[in-house]
Amino acid sequence: MITINPEASADSLKEVCSVYAEAQKPAALTGAGISVGSGISDFRSPGGLWSLFDPDEYAGLDVFLRNPEKAWELYRALGSELKDKIPNVAHRSLAELEQNGLLHGVVTQNVDNLHQRAGSRMVLEIHGDHQHLQCLQCSELIPVTDEHYQMKTVPLCTSCNYPLKPNVVLFGEAVRSLPEIESLMVDCDLLLVIGTSAQVYPAAGLPALVKHNGGKIFEFNQEPVLGSDRPGGSSFLSDFFFKGDVLQTLPLLSRLLL
Ligand SMILES: [Zn+2]
Repeated sequence: MITINPEASADSLKEVCSVYAEAQKPAALTGAGISVGSGISDFRSPGGLWSLFDPDEYAGLDVFLRNPEKAWELYRALGSELKDKIPNVAHRSLAELEQNGLLHGVVTQNVDNLHQRAGSRMVLEIHGDHQHLQCLQCSELIPVTDEHYQMKTVPLCTSCNYPLKPNVVLFGEAVRSLPEIESLMVDCDLLLVIGTSAQVYPAAGLPALVKHNGGKIFEFNQEPVLGSDRPGGSSFLSDFFFKGDVLQTLPLLSRLLL
């Protein structure tokens, strides 16, 4: 694994470019870390959403079905966490790579819509999106508004009167876009893993899959985590590790390539 930081040698930067240039189908996998610079705290971090709302107690599908009033306490907090946030330079760097034919898609664990707002077009949202409310009874999908989060009561479906939930994947619900993710990954030969430890299925399997198929991994995290805690594995999966804040490391990559 080659570490890329501000002191990286010209040779290692040149190698980044030549490995990238050889890739036919580069793609990215992103997690909470890419949106921290937009003011959205990692739910798992101290002070994050999960320290205020125990996910076991609030974030399950069973909680919504049994007690939507209680589940909506979490949804309102999530709504105010995501409200008025804008994409940062890391999101924009990925959009730029895609626009220049250097990125074939982004698989994201985030529900904040910031990749799309930055200009990325091929975005696969594993955990759904936070821009809509969803009716589990009649499948109605409606754009979420501020009023939905200001209401003291649970918003109801206007077609069938069933309680609405955010169009995000709750614990106990199936993840989204698996067939599309599979077809993006089947010939992906370079995966940028950004701001995620990729420990939750299905994201967890993607770096190893790409690696198994002979592809390369570029990791963008504060510390290298891919592969470090896999059972029986002590080595890192990443070929290049871009160390530090993604607000610096992703623009660095796009400057090198464009
Ligand atoms: Zn309905």
